[in-house]
Amino acid sequence: METMEKVQKGEMAMVCKRCKNTFTPSSNNSSACRFHPSFFVCRRHDDQKRYYELGPDDPPYAAKFYDCCGAEEPDASGCTTSFHISYDDDA
Ligand SMILES: [Zn+2]
Ligand SMILES: [Zn+2]
Repeated sequence: METMEKVQKGEMAMVCKRCKNTFTPSSNNSSACRFHPSFFVCRRHDDQKRYYELGPDDPPYAAKFYDCCGAEEPDASGCTTSFHISYDDDA
């Protein structure tokens, strides 16, 4: 019988399923992953709190924002932090 080669227990970089950033298990903590729990949507704000700056000719539905926090830039940093999730984990 062949002996299974032991995988060295080093720092394996993993890719986060949620933010697509790489991370190592030892650097993973409850605030390592920044993300938006909701989708970037294209409609009017429900709460009327913030508005995308619309041009005079833009229809109101030109407003795009994250449904979770109202951030209006697609690359706005996440409003929620949590642990990174590896593809091996069950979400
Ligand atoms: Zn958000
Ligand atoms: Zn992440």
